[in-house]
Amino acid sequence: MKHILLIVVVAVALWSCSGSGVEKPTVTVSLPPQKFILEQIVGDAYDVRALVVSGGDAENYDPSFTNLMSVRNSKAYMTMGNIGFEQAVVDKIRQENPGLPVYDSSRGINFIRGTHGNDYDVDPHTWSSVANVRIMAANMEADMERVDPGRARQFRANLKRFTATLDSLDADYRRRLEPLRGSSFLVWHPSLSYFARDYGLHQIALGGAEHKEVSIPALREAIEEARGSGASVFFVQRDIDSRQAESANERIGARRVEFVPLDYDWMAQMDIVVNALTAKR
Ligand SMILES: [Zn+2]
Repeated sequence: MKHILLIVVVAVALWSCSGSGVEKPTVTVSLPPQKFILEQIVGDAYDVRALVVSGGDAENYDPSFTNLMSVRNSKAYMTMGNIGFEQAVVDKIRQENPGLPVYDSSRGINFIRGTHGNDYDVDPHTWSSVANVRIMAANMEADMERVDPGRARQFRANLKRFTATLDSLDADYRRRLEPLRGSSFLVWHPSLSYFARDYGLHQIALGGAEHKEVSIPALREAIEEARGSGASVFFVQRDIDSRQAESANERIGARRVEFVPLDYDWMAQMDIVVNALTAKR
């Protein structure tokens, strides 16, 4: 095990020395959707690294040594704001690099509470909303101005362009989802709470807050609620959601749609959700 660790460390050291002096400065973020958002702001002026890879389970993630090195060598660390591992990362980094700026990308968002049991006070899936991503993009732009004031004009212009894209995306979703206002959809894990709020939809989470098996009585009750709700789409996270998600859906008969909430291509994942809900049956 020690050998493997050493090889990884050497590989990272070599990698970060390559590029013969034209190496880009790095900013580290927690999750791939944040990387997508920040890249819209910084363009190719920065190397943006995410601690969690797409498809992972952010709520049960334990950052590795190499990931911590990446944070330590960055110009800043931008947290998603409400993910469990972030405080541990900040605590560890603070010991060795007390001056590293740490910014919360989700500050100013109107949080949803109570969807994640006792594990989380605030629903951490803030990026499942176009409106929230607009706030996050503005936060990240302001933070980058602090990190690199010389590029402020460039960052502002990029933010303006990205905000216009988000506004037209939101308007498009609003128009298409308006006929569905008040209706329900199913998920295994409650990862679309903010999305549901934005468009007046009702999210029914069958599996609860953890990516684990739920008790038989709890599942039976959730299936009853699902069947009575008229919901016809069931969003599941491939590889993470429990096998129970499959057996539950056999009794519900909804259309199973796979999506990846932590995917880098945030817009493509939002499209998957909206397209599934608005598809002709
Ligand atoms: Zn969650």
